[in-house]
Amino acid sequence: MSEAPFLVRIWGARGSLPAPAASNTLFGSDTCSVEMRCGGHVLIFDVGSGAESLSSRLTREKVKDFDLFFSHCHFDHIMGLPFLKPLYDHEVTARIYAGHFEDETTCEEMVGGFMAPPYFPVTPKYFDAQIAYLNFRPPDTLTPHEGIVIRTHRLNHPNGCVGYRVSYLGRSVCYLTDIEHTPGKTDEKLLAFLKGAEILIYDCMYNDAEFDHYRGYGHSTWEEGVRLCEAAGVKRLVIFHHRPGRHDEELRKIEADAQARFPGAVVGRTGLELVP
Ligand SMILES: [Zn+2]
Ligand SMILES: [Zn+2]
Repeated sequence: MSEAPFLVRIWGARGSLPAPAASNTLFGSDTCSVEMRCGGHVLIFDVGSGAESLSSRLTREKVKDFDLFFSHCHFDHIMGLPFLKPLYDHEVTARIYAGHFEDETTCEEMVGGFMAPPYFPVTPKYFDAQIAYLNFRPPDTLTPHEGIVIRTHRLNHPNGCVGYRVSYLGRSVCYLTDIEHTPGKTDEKLLAFLKGAEILIYDCMYNDAEFDHYRGYGHSTWEEGVRLCEAAGVKRLVIFHHRPGRHDEELRKIEADAQARFPGAVVGRTGLELVP
């Protein structure tokens, strides 16, 4: 499968906190990190704790160039950044993008603010890679390499968040976490953004029954993911950003319930590979 020209690989699918426990072996314990391979290019979406395993793979494969896109900078999406080994390799070139800020904060300031004492001893000045910190504002379209088009969309989430739609070889994959929906309200702009995509990786922190209790937390439900896929003609749903307390058994049940309603649904897990 890894020879496919367009490939999606999940390195961490949990939200909020890593959840290492014997009851979590099937779906993995790491937080958000997704890799997409487009031809020879490596695109990374968020570097939660899943970035540690991703990092080992990139090092093993001697990947010397990649693009990293932040959805936003809550801890579960950035905690793996200091552990991304290629950033300490002087032969590596990387471009790091962020566009979720609601003020004039830049991507470089955000990384410097996070990797700083007393929160963390290693600052970005220890990175030996050639890094370009790039800023954008949704709905900017990004074209990191010839043939790869990435559209961006602002998501409803505290402190701001960005969703990405990656198009390559006529197929599209949408990465949408973290986002809160409004029950019963159709978001036409979001549907247009998702329209006809092969895969939607979506914030399914809760289910509809739990959702009322967590209004304002900035997250969504797997049922809303199914509704979006059906309304926008998206073929596959990756249930993503699991609550820390969701153990294997519960996630298995969510997968069965979701597949009963939408056969293209799958629960995201570390190691899952998808060909769009
Ligand atoms: Zn999150
Ligand atoms: Zn968040």
